[in-house]
Amino acid sequence: MKKILVTGGAGFLGSHLCERLLKEGNEVICLDNYFTGSKQNIVEFLDNPYFELVRHDVTEPYYAEVDEIYNLACPASPVHYQYNPIKTIKTSVMGAINMLGLAKRVKARILQASTSEVYGDPAVHPQPESYWGNVNPIGLRSCYDEGKRCAETLFMDYHNQNGVDIKIVRIFNTYGPKMNPEDGRVVSNFIVQALKGEDITIFGDGNQTRSFQYVDDLIEGFCRMMASEPGFTGPVNLGNSGEFTMLELAENVLDLVGSKSKLKFMPLPQDDPKQRKPDTSLAYEKLNGWESKVKLRDGLEQTIAYFDGVLRTS
Ligand code: NAD
Ligand code: UDP
Ligand code: UDP
Repeated sequence: MKKILVTGGAGFLGSHLCERLLKEGNEVICLDNYFTGSKQNIVEFLDNPYFELVRHDVTEPYYAEVDEIYNLACPASPVHYQYNPIKTIKTSVMGAINMLGLAKRVKARILQASTSEVYGDPAVHPQPESYWGNVNPIGLRSCYDEGKRCAETLFMDYHNQNGVDIKIVRIFNTYGPKMNPEDGRVVSNFIVQALKGEDITIFGDGNQTRSFQYVDDLIEGFCRMMASEPGFTGPVNLGNSGEFTMLELAENVLDLVGSKSKLKFMPLPQDDPKQRKPDTSLAYEKLNGWESKVKLRDGLEQTIAYFDGVLRTS
């Protein structure tokens, strides 16, 4: 039985990861400050004696004896990470330093949840890991993008200088059950709007693209990366190879919900990437043929069913 620390464990991805790790028979410490996560996401694990919930902020040092660390603590939705940009960059940078210091002390393997946002508004399409990105260092998104880039630097430096056993994954837009209805990212916004019969908010002309990955595929990728051969640090892209415009996403959601909501066009936020799609050949090669398999409509169906339940009971 391994003892595993999941920072940001009460969030969307973290709660799915805790569930998977518990099912595999591990002992899990879930650390969260509940900024965007909630106890609701992990309440079902609270009577499991191998699950421990800790209210803690990763910008403060944390001491525990663990075998593995998944560092997920950071708000991920533009609305939330821009609410307090200084706190966001502190979370990425100081959180990385503290968790790397912990990993160094106890000789734990540590995985960083990085992001496709390190590619900024990419000039290379699709994006391979070798692309250095196109990021505005002083824009509205930079607290998140640059914070995550600096965290990657810290991970590589702790690896090279102190021999810390690191793994870096760059996550592309991932969605699924347990997203917060107020999260603000596009998939949950469109589904909640469609279910409530409210207007669907399209930012810009809706022709910008994203690749949407269902959460189960990502969690499988996390676990394969954590178990990957020693010395393979990444970064490795984890994302779905389908590419959709926001108009196509809206059409699919409206169709699956059977909603008559109208499209409402709103201004495009500053520095919003025009296109994004991962090159996942490295993940396929290094993670035993890993691929993000769930098709958009199948994943949307699951997610719609979840939000339908949440909205009926709230
Ligand atoms: P989320 O907002 O649901 O989860 C983030 C969790 O971190 C929340 O539970 C929040 O309360 C916690 N947190 C935030 N600041 C903290 C702090 N200072 N100390 C302790 N806990 C803190 O978002 P998510 O989608 O689950 O994202 C999880 C991780 O994956 C993030 O690091 C995010 O950057 C990364 N990521 C996610 C996506 C995606 O599409 N879902 C894409 C790229 C990267
Ligand atoms: N740290 C932590 N838990 C630990 C060990 C370290 O939170 O178990 C923090 C520690 O407070 C420090 C940071 O991690 O600020 C970086 O640790 P490192 O050993 O690299 O640096 P130093 O302590 O020498 O500044
Ligand atoms: N978006 C949108 N309507 C919304 C929320 C987002 O059209 O209600 C757009 C947003 O401008 C971006 C895309 O959807 O082009 C994905 O946005 P999200 O915030 O989900 O993720 P990110 O921009 O970080 O990829």
